Parts: sequence; structure tokens; C-alpha cells
Amino acid sequence: MDSIPAFRLQRPDSAAAAVALRAENPASRFIAGGTDLLPNIRRGLTTPEMLIDLGGISELRKFREEAGTLCIGAGVTLSTIAANAHVQTHLPALAHAAGAVAGPTHRMAATLGGNLCLDTRCQYYNQSESWRKGLEFCLKRGGDVCRVAPKSSRCYAAFSGDVAPALLALNATIEILSPQGSRRLPIREFYRDDGKTYISLAADEMLLGVEVPLVDGWKSAYDKVRVRGAIDFPLVGVAIALRRDGDTVGDLRIACTGVSSRPELIDGLESVYGKPLDDASLALIDKRIRHYTRPVGTTIIDVSYRRQVMPVLARRLLRRLGENC
Ligand SMILES: Cc1cc2nc3c(=O)[nH]c(=O)nc-3n(C[C@H](O)[C@H](O)[C@H](O)COP(=O)(O)OP(=O)(O)OC[C@H]3O[C@@H](n4cnc5c(N)ncnc54)[C@H](O)[C@@H]3O)c2cc1C
Ligand code: SF4
Repeated sequence: MDSIPAFRLQRPDSAAAAVALRAENPASRFIAGGTDLLPNIRRGLTTPEMLIDLGGISELRKFREEAGTLCIGAGVTLSTIAANAHVQTHLPALAHAAGAVAGPTHRMAATLGGNLCLDTRCQYYNQSESWRKGLEFCLKRGGDVCRVAPKSSRCYAAFSGDVAPALLALNATIEILSPQGSRRLPIREFYRDDGKTYISLAADEMLLGVEVPLVDGWKSAYDKVRVRGAIDFPLVGVAIALRRDGDTVGDLRIACTGVSSRPELIDGLESVYGKPLDDASLALIDKRIRHYTRPVGTTIIDVSYRRQVMPVLARRLLRRLGENC
């Protein structure tokens, strides 16, 4: 088994001190729950000289409603989010997604910020250093070639976080802090379709939290398919937010995870607005999802299975939401 190399540990007590430390130490990384970062360090996927522990920063643990918006700090644990009665009632997709990450002990340590920033994954990357060396390192870790798409100059490693698609469907905004100040951006703009540089976060920027609008009339849900039901990343995951207008679709947002280097919000669903959720509408939705989700061979599970299961998951969730409206 690979051992964890030595690193220095800093424990700032404010977000401002944390980003200042990060800016002064380019070879540092933020660590929250550590459930993604520590295994990656052990495998030699990243070799920080300093870890900046965010666990002592109280402002990252905010969890409150403000003017029709739920503000959740980046340091709030996934078990706290999943168990929150307000989230379960008003933002069920978020409760489902947070409660579907890994296993119960992970969720007690794992944070919202760590989940939104977790590294992209690939069967040629999430391996021990000796395994990867045997095959020669790939593009994501200093090599010249992508094993999944050898003719490609980009990395296709998949974003496999459960919570991001829920927040995309719920139209959330991300709050970011750097030594220069804070900024906000829609969660859709936070992710990039590139397995190496998958988030729009400069080296000295940290996630402060998210703001999720609390809007009446919407129903939402999240579900995923994974190899080990009790503890695993999604092979594919789907989040849906639906607003019915009588018997027809008033508004609809669908987001997917596990199939691209970023969580994808499916565009072009307006064609079903004003129509019932019947077979014709479901067929149109299937088509849009297939257009957007093009998984490649980043997992040991067959690509065609992942391609086919995504619209099936979406149909199941839509039927469930449609029945409950
Ligand atoms: C066996 C196993 C199963 C897993 N299954 C799942 C799964 O089903 N679904 C899933 O989504 N994940 C899964 N994970 C991955 C991981 O546990 C979760 O994604 C978790 O939410 C990561 O949060 P964390 O707080 O532990 O992040 P950390 O490991 O602390 O950090 C992850 C990354 O985020 C960065 N980071 C953390 N906080 C901030 C911040 N505030 N601002 C900027 N950057 C930040 C860190 O620098 C690091 O790059 C699994 C992991 C394991 C080991
Ligand atoms: S997609 Fe290609 S470059 Fe990216 S991690 Fe996998 S093999 Fe490496």
C-alpha cells in the first residue's frame, strides 16, 4: 500500500486567512473532510507540501434561510444536509443527493465544498502510483497520452459528484472568496468540460458556500446507478426539478453526473413546456439527454450501459415527480 508523504498542516480560523495562506503557498491545497483528497495524496495523484485545514472556520458552517434563499456553507457536512428537515421538504433533490454520497461514515466527514470540488475520475487515473507508472502516466498526471482517447489532446476523466447535478437542477449560485474579495456565479458556470481543469476556481480561491432559491411549486428528486449500492460513486446520476402547470409541464430542469468531465444541465427542454408528461414528451426528453451525455471509457463498466441507463433514470424520476404533483 502507498504511504502518505509528509506535509505541513495549517489550521486558519477564518476564510480570509485561509485564502491568504493559499496565495502565499502555491504548493498547498485546501482540505475539508479529506475523503477525496487523502486517498488521492496516498496514490501520488497530488503531492501538496502544505494542507490548509478548513475545519476550524465557523463561517463555512453557515446554514440559514435569507430572503427566500437557503445559504449553505462549504464546510457543512453531507450528513447534516441530508438530515435537515427543511432541505428534505423544500429541496428534496439536494437531500437525496447528499444522502447518496459514499457511505454513512464518509458523509459525516465529507463536506459540501469538497463534494463540489472533488477531482474527476478515470479507471487509468484512480490507481496506485506503481500501477500508473507501469503503463506510463497519462495526460492528467504529466504524461503525453490519454489512454481513453489516445488521439485526443484533452482529458475525459468524469466528474462523479452527486450533489452538483442537484444544485444545477435547483438553480443554485456559488459563492467564492479570494484575497481580492468575493464573487458569485451560477453553478453552471463553475464547471468546465475538461478532466484536468474541471472547475473555474483560481489557485487562491475557495468556495464559501452555495445559495439555493426556495421557490414554491417545484418538485425535485435525485437518483443514481452505482456498482456497490452501499458505497460508491455514481456511474450515472440524474437530478430533476419540475414545475407543473395543471396537467402540463410548466418548467423543467434536468442535470446529469458521471457522464462527462462536468455535471451537465440538459438544454432544449422547452419543447415539452405546456405539454403533458406523456410518452411523446418523455421521448423528446430522452432525445435531449442522449444528445448531451456521451460517456467514454473512464470506468470499467461498459459505455453503452451508461449511455442507456441515463434516460431510464430520468424517466423513472419524472414519473415519480409527475405522480406526486
Ligand atoms: C470509497 C469512497 C466512495 C465515495 N463515493 C462517493 C460518491 O458516491 N459520491 C460522491 O460524490 N463522492 C464520493 N466519494 C468522494 C468523496 O468522499 C466525496 O465527494 C466528499 O463529498 C468529498 O468531500 P470532502 O470534504 O471529504 O473533500 P476533501 O477530500 O477535503 O476535498 C476534495 C477537494 O475539494 C477541495 N476543497 C474542499 N473544500 C474546498 C473549499 N471550500 N474551497 C475550495 N476547494 C475545496 C480540496 O482541496 C480537494 O481538492 C467517495 C470517496 C470514497 C473514498
Ligand atoms: S481520460 Fe485520459 S488523460 Fe484523463 S485520466 Fe483518463 S486516461 Fe488519463
